[in-house]
Amino acid sequence: MNDNSRADDLGETFKRLIRENGPISLAQYMGESNARYYTSRNPLGDDGDFITAPEVSQVFGELIGLWLADIWVRAGTPEPVHYVELGPGRGTLASDALRAAERYGLKPQVHFVEGSEALKQIQRGTVRGVTHHADVTTLPDDGPLLIVANEFFDALPVRQLLRAAEGWCERMVGLESDKLAFVFGDKPMDAAVPQSWRQASQGTIIETSPASAAIMSELADRLAAQGGAALVIDYGPREGRSGSTLQAIKGHQKVDVFSHPGNMDLTAHVDFETLAKVAQRQGAQVLGLQMQGDWLTALGIDMRMEALKRRAPGQAETFKRQHDRLVAEDQMGLLFKVLGLSGKDWPEEAPGF
Ligand code: SAH
Repeated sequence: MNDNSRADDLGETFKRLIRENGPISLAQYMGESNARYYTSRNPLGDDGDFITAPEVSQVFGELIGLWLADIWVRAGTPEPVHYVELGPGRGTLASDALRAAERYGLKPQVHFVEGSEALKQIQRGTVRGVTHHADVTTLPDDGPLLIVANEFFDALPVRQLLRAAEGWCERMVGLESDKLAFVFGDKPMDAAVPQSWRQASQGTIIETSPASAAIMSELADRLAAQGGAALVIDYGPREGRSGSTLQAIKGHQKVDVFSHPGNMDLTAHVDFETLAKVAQRQGAQVLGLQMQGDWLTALGIDMRMEALKRRAPGQAETFKRQHDRLVAEDQMGLLFKVLGLSGKDWPEEAPGF
């Protein structure tokens, strides 16, 4: 992957903007960097910047497809029904999930919410008959939605509030010696800080993602009105916490968050506690929040892997590695969580939660 000059320009564009108008919010920096990053490339794979669970093993998507088929059958097999995936990457998860779901009679219409032109093209080649959406507002409203988001919310912009000497301020992106750097915003932000954090000690940072809350709010609204279910899979803690979790990844390595805007993946931990609260407030049912390892184990990943091994004994080692990558606590098993939601008149319990 080459550092093309367009992407290098984005750093210069930010600097010019800041020189002229003063510091910008971290959310703007992250949003514009990631928009540029994703739209120009396929970041997934060994020669890209990172690998996600569906790219590790087909079993990941298959178990998600079976989970969706199970809850749809228990909801009475309503039709029409829509499969909705947010940020589907190469389309691998959707392709594995839809193949598994079809065995149970679930053949939904497929909707992808995707911002990247490069990835949209790859997705059209992976899954047939996809309708693309720029955001969640245009999703169909004529039937239940089966929603999947794997490593989508972590890419959405965050803002950070910092407890400075005089009170809370926003952590902004400005210039120091003509280099992008964190600076203190000059507006008092105390009113934006939840009551429970107001008295935190100097230096405390809290991170929020208004964009994530807005998308979750719309999705939960739809679940409440139309029925359906959702699985949000990402990394983040079980409960709210403090501190900056912003990180930049390039070529499978952590790099400085200001080093290559538009040319590295900027992410932050997902605040599941807030997402669940927003969903509940809009009338969706929270099925549960589970560690990815435990969730996949409860869904039968061991048995699926055994079946693959029996079919291809020569690859036993590979299957074992894939299993551990998804499930082991020191790999994805513990840090990654699965948030399950369901809609009005849909089952209140589901496997894995
Ligand atoms: N779910 C895939 C890809 C994860 S990468 C997987 O697990 O492999 C993040 C995905 O979200 C990419 O498809 C990216 O283009 C998309 N994305 C990131 N920010 C977005 C936004 N604001 N709107 C729509 N799609 C976005």
